Amino acid sequence: MIASILFHRRIPATKNYCVQAYIHGYSVIMSKTQVTIPFFVPHSGCPHRCVFCNQWVSTGSKTLPDAIAVRTKIDAYHTKIPPSVIRIEAAFFGGSFTAIPFEKQEELLGAALAGKRRGKIHAIRLSTRPDCIDHARLDLLERYEVETVELGAQSFSDTVLSASQRGHTTDDIFRAVELLRERKFNYVIQLMPGLPLDTADESLRSALTAVRLAPHGVRIYPTVVLEHTGLADMFREGRYTPLELHDAVELCAAMYSIFLESVIPVIRMGLHPLDAEGLAGILAGPYHPAFGFMVKSRFRRNQVEMAVEHYINSNPDKQHRKMIVELPAAGREEFIGLKKENLSHLRSKFPHCDLQIRFTDAGGISVTRD
Ligand code: SF4
Repeated sequence: MIASILFHRRIPATKNYCVQAYIHGYSVIMSKTQVTIPFFVPHSGCPHRCVFCNQWVSTGSKTLPDAIAVRTKIDAYHTKIPPSVIRIEAAFFGGSFTAIPFEKQEELLGAALAGKRRGKIHAIRLSTRPDCIDHARLDLLERYEVETVELGAQSFSDTVLSASQRGHTTDDIFRAVELLRERKFNYVIQLMPGLPLDTADESLRSALTAVRLAPHGVRIYPTVVLEHTGLADMFREGRYTPLELHDAVELCAAMYSIFLESVIPVIRMGLHPLDAEGLAGILAGPYHPAFGFMVKSRFRRNQVEMAVEHYINSNPDKQHRKMIVELPAAGREEFIGLKKENLSHLRSKFPHCDLQIRFTDAGGISVTRD
């Protein structure tokens, strides 16, 4: 009789990967079915600089767009629309959008809304601080048909928020979510594991708290030390130690797992790949251009490891025998990992087992003996 363990954990689609592409000199963020046309408003509206933040480095953008730039970029995209794309969003990132003077908000949102009216985009999103959400600001967003608001929550620990000089508390995050939910906006929560005074447990607690708020998505940005920030000074003075890359990957894999279990989409993990100038702005910390892939791949590795361990513990007499490990072909690259590191890890983790790894169209992980 063939003993079999089937793990029916949800296997999220792997095909919706994002790449940065350049169309007519404009950067756009693309997946197979969705495109986000980003407009960066670096530090606009921010009441001060948070300790970790340098949007000029992390967005690679130095100037505030105007209505003409928004219109031109939206229109330019359309000359190269891939047939697979079914949804296009214009997104304003990199500052505290709702704290920008209303007149400027209206200029930018007006240009985006005109693009929507012309059928060039389907939706508008923007990011802001939790303490810059109130009814008057949401009235304006509603008028310009903003669909999604991304909240830079970063952490649900007041100690961590204070050490990061965020200038708001967890109560502000709860209040903002309450208002967004009441006014029927989609909301996304951004988290930053590895901030000053943060711990792995605290980051996991933040992920669990975020789940309770039922966001429409999350972004996870492990903290990287950028030049010309308060964090860079703290790092140089030995008052801050960033996460090592492998620890950040492991921690983010655990957070990723929490969100997947709750069917909350993880939109992005890690900074977008930076150009040479951006790279020069990174002083230390867990930056990797393929960070998101590494996290998903670690999550897959953990899944397989658990399945094999479970099989061995349930069948102690069979652990020296050949085992067939069947994995979903849809996640093949993530299961294999960068430079096939997951396969070599599994073989060294279970040196007494003859693991035969096969990819199938089935949706789960299965371990059987030959
Ligand atoms: S983290 Fe957000 S609020 Fe703080 S400085 Fe950066 S863009 Fe502004």
